[in-house]
Amino acid sequence: MVAEVIIDTSVKTLNKTFDYEIPTDLDIKVGSRVFVPFGKQKELAEGIVVNIKEASEFKVKPVAGLQEEQIADDYLDLAKFMAHRYFCNIADCLRLMLPPGRTNKNIDNRIKEKKINCISLSKSREEIEDAIESGVIKSQKQIDVLEFLLDNNNSSMQDIELFTDATAAVVTALQKKGFIDKVPTKVERNPFIHKVDKQTSNLELTDEQQAAFDEISSNLNTANEYLVFGVTGSGKTEIYLQLIGKTLAKGKSSIMLVPEISLTPQTVDRFIARFGEDNIAVLHSKLSIGERFDQWMKIKEGKAKIIIGARSAIFAPVQNLGLIVIDEEHDESYESESNPRYNAIEVAEYLKDTVGVPLVLGSATPDMRSFYRARQGEIKLLTLKNRANQSTLPTVDIVDLREELANGNRSMISEKLREEIQSNLDNNQQTILFLNRRGFASFVMCKDCGETIKCDRCNITLTYHKYENRLKCHYCGNEKAMVSECPSCHSKNIRTFGAGTQKLEEEIQSLFPGATTIRMDADTVSKKNSHEEILNKFKTENINILIGTQMVVKGHDFPNVTLVGVIAADNELNFGDFRASERTFQTLTQVAGRAGRGEVAGRVVVQTYNPEHYAIELAKVQDYEAFFDTEVEVRKALKYPPFCDIIVAEMSSKNKNELLKVANTIHAYLKDRVINEKFGVLLYSPVPSPIDKIKDRYRMRIIIKCKYDEKINDLMNGALDTFYNMKVLTARLAIELNPNNMQ
Ligand code: ADP
Ligand code: ZN
Ligand code: ZN
Repeated sequence: MVAEVIIDTSVKTLNKTFDYEIPTDLDIKVGSRVFVPFGKQKELAEGIVVNIKEASEFKVKPVAGLQEEQIADDYLDLAKFMAHRYFCNIADCLRLMLPPGRTNKNIDNRIKEKKINCISLSKSREEIEDAIESGVIKSQKQIDVLEFLLDNNNSSMQDIELFTDATAAVVTALQKKGFIDKVPTKVERNPFIHKVDKQTSNLELTDEQQAAFDEISSNLNTANEYLVFGVTGSGKTEIYLQLIGKTLAKGKSSIMLVPEISLTPQTVDRFIARFGEDNIAVLHSKLSIGERFDQWMKIKEGKAKIIIGARSAIFAPVQNLGLIVIDEEHDESYESESNPRYNAIEVAEYLKDTVGVPLVLGSATPDMRSFYRARQGEIKLLTLKNRANQSTLPTVDIVDLREELANGNRSMISEKLREEIQSNLDNNQQTILFLNRRGFASFVMCKDCGETIKCDRCNITLTYHKYENRLKCHYCGNEKAMVSECPSCHSKNIRTFGAGTQKLEEEIQSLFPGATTIRMDADTVSKKNSHEEILNKFKTENINILIGTQMVVKGHDFPNVTLVGVIAADNELNFGDFRASERTFQTLTQVAGRAGRGEVAGRVVVQTYNPEHYAIELAKVQDYEAFFDTEVEVRKALKYPPFCDIIVAEMSSKNKNELLKVANTIHAYLKDRVINEKFGVLLYSPVPSPIDKIKDRYRMRIIIKCKYDEKINDLMNGALDTFYNMKVLTARLAIELNPNNMQ
């Protein structure tokens, strides 16, 4: 027999199968991971068997080795679907489904299991209780440790220190007395799964929740798609929890996707409190490779039946899938920005159909496309209009920044916002100030000639970082010292413009000298979990004001936050993207949702130069449907999604001439077919991309507006073939359907 093998490589021209003879002693099936000799390479190459046939027309070499795990049939098909749909290599897609951290070179070199010393009791419960009662053990700290271990045997030293205040010396003393042992134990490496004391059970659902729950739970064996549309706090998560519970009771698994940034211990704890940590696996990009491996195996072995994760968790090796939930379905992080540029919701839709399970999307501000499909009846719409715990939605005030300017207020804080912050300080309540960073960082400009200081490698204005007095490129990380004269006209009349979070923090500190502040942005959040640490610090130390970018918007419950200030709502509006209004509405609504989650009603102050813009007016009254109705007309008139699809063919090269040649060749190919085969599409000429140079690569693109179907897919795959047939040095071509980021 002969195996058709896909070689694990990103080389596009190798996106085809190679034949190998199957030795009789190897149990090779479709989906097996194999090692094969390949080309002139000395090392064996890794591949995946995608088909088995009687014979080959070529003279073929035998398969050299076989690995244990194999890819399930459904997932092999999924990889083929993705390669086709996202214009990429099957091998790249398959890699998403393989266990983390193994390369073709280490056949049996599994990641070493991590072992730590766990502390365990070496006497029985009675013996220990006797020892405490009879006064054999007198030290209170030693008693604390023993009592802790009676409930949590085999705990790490770290946990003992955390929960009992005891030090290593206390433990050593107990060891000398013969009460405990240190045992090297394999630990599961996952910082997000830890002991949760609380246990919760199903809440009694409100009528709205019950109706949504019933609709889905009575169809758990059907491949239906649902959109749970409900304001923040309307109890969507409680519905997910109960659906997952019902799925678990049937012995089936659930995948629950949340945006990367809301995947916090707080989120995970809610699931652990309901289902216990043994049932749960967590997957996301901040885990170390060892951690990811452990979680992956826990899922693969069927131990964890509830998988909580960011985008890529949709590929988890789940056993007996019964339900997929995608929370905050409008979130951009569900679309991958690197190859393969897949959309996790589309992948979930594929699994829904092939496995035959329900897919539940949820959001307070659904993606325009999802809501449109719901209106068209393609997705079942389940609406929650009220907050579940009876807390009220916050009041929103709009401040017209033009009037502030006219009144001579040049600071970033309006009179109204200043009063509200002061009142919060007086009442010991917390405030969040939100500054949208996009296009709003500080930059340096020459006042004489208007030149801005740009990155040498990218055509991007550098951002000024005051504390370090340096200029940084937010695209490639390139940085340089602050300049003292204009590189163009050599004038010394240089000024910083715009305002970043640093500048805002300074202003706040000078306006409210006694207030405590904490800042969260891309600069302060860099190391693992630091995002979490900042939020925890804000909460537990009751810091007065949290200043942050996008990151403050999602997923957290701060009972003492009663005021949210949006410094400039227009930033996103002015962003050159057809989704600018949608994004603005979403962001404002989500930010407002942060205020008043506790007892006291929340207030939101939105500062803007466009108070009459519908995205801002309708965010004020939190009326998503009215926003949708307005925006959908705009999209219809201008022919934007959901009324068409947008394909972007992005080309780049280190060489301008080569880029131009590629752009013209691809365009000529497309134009030829579009005309001859009478495609109903709008094909635009090649233009420089909005950012026309990144990391020394010049960039151009061709945009096509169309209704995506198989014919269009064929057209675009043809463009790829045209490209691969060209002799190029550094050029690349990436084709993307409805990209999230039009920059
Ligand atoms: P969402 O996911 O829509 O933001 P959550 O499920 O987090 O909403 O619910 C918001 C708050 O309301 C939570 O504190 C939750 O415990 C509470 N809650 C949800 N459903 C109910 C219910 N049926 N009865 C009482 N409280 C509820
Ligand atoms: Zn750069
Ligand atoms: Zn100048």
